[in-house]
Amino acid sequence: MRTRLPPSPTGFLHIGNLRTALFDFLLAKQTKGIFYVRVEDTDRERFVPGAIESMLRSLQWAGISPDEGVMFDANGEVIQKGPHAPYFQSERLDLYKKYAEELVEKGHAYHCFCTPERLTEMRKQQEALKKAPMYDRHCVHLSKEDVAAKITAGERHVVRMKVPHERTVTFNDDIRGEVRFQGHTIDDQVLLKGDGFPTYHLAHVVDDHLMETDLVIRGEEWLSSLPKHILLFEWLGWAPPKYAHVPLLLSKDRKKLSKRDGDVAVEEYIQKGYLPEVMVNFLALLGWNPGTTQEIFTMDELIEQFSLDRVQKAGAIFDLEKLNWLQGQWMRKISPTEFAARILPLVAEKFSAAATDKDFVRKAALIQERITFFNEAPEMLTWFYKEPHASVELLASEKQKITKEQLPEIFQALENILSDVPEKNWTVEGLKTAVQSNLGNFKQGQLLWPLRAALTGLPYSPGAFEVAEVLGKEKTLERLKKAESITQ
Ligand code: GLU
Repeated sequence: MRTRLPPSPTGFLHIGNLRTALFDFLLAKQTKGIFYVRVEDTDRERFVPGAIESMLRSLQWAGISPDEGVMFDANGEVIQKGPHAPYFQSERLDLYKKYAEELVEKGHAYHCFCTPERLTEMRKQQEALKKAPMYDRHCVHLSKEDVAAKITAGERHVVRMKVPHERTVTFNDDIRGEVRFQGHTIDDQVLLKGDGFPTYHLAHVVDDHLMETDLVIRGEEWLSSLPKHILLFEWLGWAPPKYAHVPLLLSKDRKKLSKRDGDVAVEEYIQKGYLPEVMVNFLALLGWNPGTTQEIFTMDELIEQFSLDRVQKAGAIFDLEKLNWLQGQWMRKISPTEFAARILPLVAEKFSAAATDKDFVRKAALIQERITFFNEAPEMLTWFYKEPHASVELLASEKQKITKEQLPEIFQALENILSDVPEKNWTVEGLKTAVQSNLGNFKQGQLLWPLRAALTGLPYSPGAFEVAEVLGKEKTLERLKKAESITQ
């Protein structure tokens, strides 16, 4: 199957476009087909320099690299590769012009010379009459001679399609099933603009045919334009590809996801430290469900399991909590050595001692259980490389039923217990046994909270025994003494 992503280079890659790209990619890979990128740069006013590079970077980051079309070469330069080049629409203007002329020739399109002022006036009147805004066909009856004369005189014009009002256009959408449209509700869409550039409607029809696209996956917002596209295929004598209109992304209050609800550009998620695997996993579940309770998916599993018939019609809610939960799940999936290697540069930047720390992997493993983003690692490991400063307020804990007055006694007990533990038993298990069998009048939590807080200086950290084990006996006792001194 040949699938495609045709972004308009008007900014960063939108998270919804990444989802579309993912669905395209999964189906292409599933069928050992081709996923290609075409750049729809026909709106010169909205062109943003650097947008193509940024979009390709986002795709590459997610592991959704094109097999054909616009892509990076090995040196990171943007190139076009494949049998259907050029893949930039701005380099294909002659083609669109040729097909627009063919449509005029066949009587399916006409030249329109209406000025912007006239069109604005027309729209105002329609609005006043509460009519749907539609071109009033003012130019449809111009004779061939009139048209030729106006063109020769240099009058600015567009080419519009002539929608047969009596027709009903039906089509089978791969997600929505049969959809029907009445001809009289369809506007005479502009196909070729005054500047000679095509609109999306004509350009994508021409390109999806010439580039042999089998399936067009695009946002639901295009569904109402579908009949125009179906008519164009018909008039040009081409079989249309399959179409699948994916559901909108909605915010939690069920409105169309927008910048106000948080980040919508993929680049922002990259910067925040989300793993590409997480984004892929998350986006796959935005609209698609596997029909099982499985929630964690690798790209390979998605390639195997994804299908359009499990994509819903209703809007898909973008749930940031779910995204963060997935991020946590994926953080735990990384092997401990790889995890350590990923965070080492970040930690070493803050604490140079980490760079030569032989015990780093063991320390990293302690935080892997609770970390969400790699950049939290330096903070979470601070207490290994810097003496903590626990306050009395932190050492005591209302929740654990520890008063400030009890602290000196608690620290005394801890020191007694721990100094008796021989080096060979200085392990999580050995420490646990020692503390549990010497609780005296205290509850376990009353000893463990101050121990952990004294060793790390933090309200949240890995457990007391894990921390003590990695710190070693000498450092542990040293920190206990220091904490004790502030409780007197
Ligand atoms: N250039 C269009 C867009 O970015 C593409 C829509 C499509 O997938 O055909 O919205």
